[in-house]
Amino acid sequence: MKAPIQGYLEQLHEQVGQIDEGELASYIPELTKADPKAFGICLVTMDGVAYAVGDTQQTFTIQSISKAFVYAAALADRGQELVASKVGVEPSGDAFNSISLDPQSGAPFNPMINAGAIATSGLVAGSTPQAQWQRIQEALADFAGHPLALDEAVYRSESDTGHRNRAIAWMLKNFGIIDGDPMAVLDNYFRQCSLLVSCRDLAFMAATLANGGVHPQTGKAALPADEVERVLSVMATCGMYDYAGSWLYEVGMPAKSGVGGGIVAVVPGRFGVGIFSPRLDAKGNSVRGIEACKRLSRQFGLHAFARRDHPSMALERIFSAAQVPSRRQPPLEVRSFLDERAGSIKYLILHGFIAVDGVEYVIRKMQKLAPTTHSFILDMHQVDGLSESAARLLNQARLGLAAEGIALVCSRVHKRQAILAHLGKAARSGDRGFLLFEDNDLAVEWCENRLLAEMGDLAPGPRGMGDSLMFRGLPAELLQRIEQVSQRRSYTSGEQILRIGQEGDGRVFFIESGHVSILVPLQNGNHQRIASLCPGMEFGEMALLGQTTRSASVFADTDVSCRILEVTDLERLAEEAPKLEIILLKNLARGIAARLRGANQCIQALA
Ligand code: GLN
Repeated sequence: MKAPIQGYLEQLHEQVGQIDEGELASYIPELTKADPKAFGICLVTMDGVAYAVGDTQQTFTIQSISKAFVYAAALADRGQELVASKVGVEPSGDAFNSISLDPQSGAPFNPMINAGAIATSGLVAGSTPQAQWQRIQEALADFAGHPLALDEAVYRSESDTGHRNRAIAWMLKNFGIIDGDPMAVLDNYFRQCSLLVSCRDLAFMAATLANGGVHPQTGKAALPADEVERVLSVMATCGMYDYAGSWLYEVGMPAKSGVGGGIVAVVPGRFGVGIFSPRLDAKGNSVRGIEACKRLSRQFGLHAFARRDHPSMALERIFSAAQVPSRRQPPLEVRSFLDERAGSIKYLILHGFIAVDGVEYVIRKMQKLAPTTHSFILDMHQVDGLSESAARLLNQARLGLAAEGIALVCSRVHKRQAILAHLGKAARSGDRGFLLFEDNDLAVEWCENRLLAEMGDLAPGPRGMGDSLMFRGLPAELLQRIEQVSQRRSYTSGEQILRIGQEGDGRVFFIESGHVSILVPLQNGNHQRIASLCPGMEFGEMALLGQTTRSASVFADTDVSCRILEVTDLERLAEEAPKLEIILLKNLARGIAARLRGANQCIQALA
């Protein structure tokens, strides 16, 4: 199947390709040799997939687009403060080659016009112009994902004719914005403008900015994440020269164009776009490039100020432990105590990227539910991300709820480091932060224990075989004979009692003291607990039904004492007393029916 987005881009290319307006840049003579019909569009996703249409491999000189990436390098090398003292961030509203400097400081208005860009080229790390050129090449290579070659002819052509830029460089020297030899700095600027890129390269460079500074294919950080916002801000306000206002108004993406016919446009966190079509409008922007971006923005809703997902999307649903109780099977009196209160344990299933607006909605819901709630479990399984500020608010909510005696815990964060880091950072010193659980069952069991703590002395002590529901209704004398043929065995905490897949083990286990967990392995190598059992309960009873292969593993959670009954012994007793078999099978069927009901209820709640 062809990717629908590919089909869409082909259509866009076909339609916008009809436009024949605009002229090749001619003030750099060599640029008139470009093919005016060339046209390519490339879109790169955050996981590094490139959708390309048209002339996306053809190379051309990067020109002014380099300014954004060299500015990025200067910020990374020298820090925002120093860079800001030499180059401003105000849109000039002037043409790219205007000689506009702040009348007081002499600093260029912004790094996207030539004056600011030439100053910026002099700011990157390196103690000689050669070392700085090295740095510029490396920086651009990191963004593109590979080294870029230089177009000697274009470089010579601009160097021979670029007198206006020469004048700008000397003015910058005059105002103390350039420290060393202004002609050496200008030479680096001419070189950086003559680096060759394809529109595919541009799309990856844009995608790297969209991806927090990390190249989506090489995985290399081209720019510290903190600086990305700064670069994008300047691109948004100044990237399209004296068309910047209209561009933001209509397209709404941080972008940068060059007189070689290229445009990069960034949709933060979503896409990088590269376009190549060398016919330019009067302001020096690619005519088709602008049109293609306008349509892309409109049809895909990519404008920076477009409406985002509604905050309520953050909360997928709410249910309680009445619908999905823990898998622990405690004695009846404990279970009925918990059942009465199960509605006070609430799961909130969160979803998507949770920012401040989403978390505000979730907290408001919890406040509303608080009067009938003992514990909240935030299920983070479907959460893609959590902003730092959202984590802070969530933490405040946790402390506020705790003051009212209500617990707020998280489950299924798994190993998502960014979320864990934000949750951890949000906790103040002296506070242990969010309690995190591997799965909802463990979380709900913890919440049940909080309820049980209020129950007092009902916690189950040691039991005998007679407490097992399996022997309900059995005459005392038969029970005694069963006890006589059974054997006692102890297990230490952590010991495996039964192994899944284990064959030919015809024994039934009755817990006298301690707790065990029944586990099944998952595909990812983890285990899922399907039940936890306490004294007075049995396991392995399927052996009575002739099942010879164990369908789950059983581990001792504490030191455990069991009575073990061989199925063959039981069968022998049943031959003498047929009533035994009937009672046993009935009780067994009742137990299985109860579990089936529970499973059905669970499926219903989760569907
Ligand atoms: N090298 C060109 C110049 O300085 C870049 C201009 C541009 O792409 N807008 O004039």
